Amino acid sequence: MKNALSKVFLFLVAAVFVITSFGAQPASAASNPFKDVSSSDKEILYLWNKKLINGIDSITFGPTDAVTREQAATLIGRAIGLKGDLRNTTFPDVNPKRYSSGYIQSAYEKGIITGNPDGSFRPQDTMTRGEMAFLLSRAFNYTSTGNVFFDDIKSDTSSTSLYTAVSKIATAGVSNGTGTGTYTPTKELVRGEFAVFLARALNSNFKVAYKNTVSENLTVIVDNLNVRTGPSTGYRAIGKVNTGAEFQVYGYKGVWAYGKSGNVTGYVHSEFIGKSVPAAANNRFITIDPGHGGHDPGATGNGLREKDINLDVSKRVEAKLKAKGIKVYMTRSTDVFHSLSARVDKGVASGSDAFLSIHTNAASPGASGSETFYSASVGNDSKQLATFIQNRLYKAMDHPNRGVKNYGFQVIRTNPLPAALVELGFITNKYDSAKLASGTYKDRAATAIADGIEDYYNWKAK
Ligand SMILES: [Zn+2]
Repeated sequence: MKNALSKVFLFLVAAVFVITSFGAQPASAASNPFKDVSSSDKEILYLWNKKLINGIDSITFGPTDAVTREQAATLIGRAIGLKGDLRNTTFPDVNPKRYSSGYIQSAYEKGIITGNPDGSFRPQDTMTRGEMAFLLSRAFNYTSTGNVFFDDIKSDTSSTSLYTAVSKIATAGVSNGTGTGTYTPTKELVRGEFAVFLARALNSNFKVAYKNTVSENLTVIVDNLNVRTGPSTGYRAIGKVNTGAEFQVYGYKGVWAYGKSGNVTGYVHSEFIGKSVPAAANNRFITIDPGHGGHDPGATGNGLREKDINLDVSKRVEAKLKAKGIKVYMTRSTDVFHSLSARVDKGVASGSDAFLSIHTNAASPGASGSETFYSASVGNDSKQLATFIQNRLYKAMDHPNRGVKNYGFQVIRTNPLPAALVELGFITNKYDSAKLASGTYKDRAATAIADGIEDYYNWKAK
């Protein structure tokens, strides 16, 4: 995550610079006790001077530190004046004596935060930028959406979608994305960035006007071309354009161009503006390696065999990836045994550009949760692949996040492709194994893994 975080921070610095150059000066001669905050970090100083945010200690703000869920609830609670007295909460994993308990419960009662499906809140989990969009849009009651386009967010205008949440905060002037046409929803949110969002929400002097950037000016080549609300013919037509009309392109979702013609903004098929866009999916081709098989059952426990779970989940991942237009090679589709080196060789020979091995863990009965491995010896892409998968998987499985770990398993260490190895959960744990036996949870795991792989490819495409 080192690179990703420093990118976020650079963006932040750039954003702050843009704002100050417009001369916004909402806080008068703000004092600055922090050694890691510059006088141009107006948003942080604004919040600090209003006593809405503290440093990690008296001289350190920690702008690049991740924001946890309890911190976010507390900061937003203070900012909008929620009751913060320590009290019992609806969540068993929130200690009523902890500083955050009152704000968490107040935010919950106002519908600003929701817990996890298992009833927990996970106060120490870090937040992503996508989660932040939901949180801010609810906390500040943002309802307006606009013609907002981000390369890395699926156009889904339903009321509960990530796109809608991000569109609300962009329309409210709270976020412009990264400034390069993306929003990076799965990236960890850091404290400096959180401060910028929150200051903008509280004080209009900090706000940024969302503006689409024109990537190309093209010309419509047919008559009566429908402009739609989303990137398929399944979306409603909101206008028509004719031969010769100019179409300003903001970006593409597959073969659909998003942009503006006259006073209508929406999607048109790129073929009809004289553009043939190669589907990005053509370059996306991953090997899925269901661990064990044949005479090698892998781990066993609670009446289950690892090789069966691995194959079942892998097949579900395969189907979900294919539905996204991502090509898949399976090292096995039946109950057969292959050596570790054969798995790597087959994956490489298939022509795929990434590799994921799917396994199930075993340990003492108390161990629970998922973890994803990469081998640091083979470059940064492997770690990214592992991180994107793990960030989604533990949430989908409602179990502990054991993290992303560097370990030299043979199929990832000796692999020339970016490679990760995921452990879905513990076959030896009562709760994990019940989920691994359930079609619902196997499907949730597969969806999370497929979405994580898509996140990885979207990140690669940047
Ligand atoms: Zn295994």
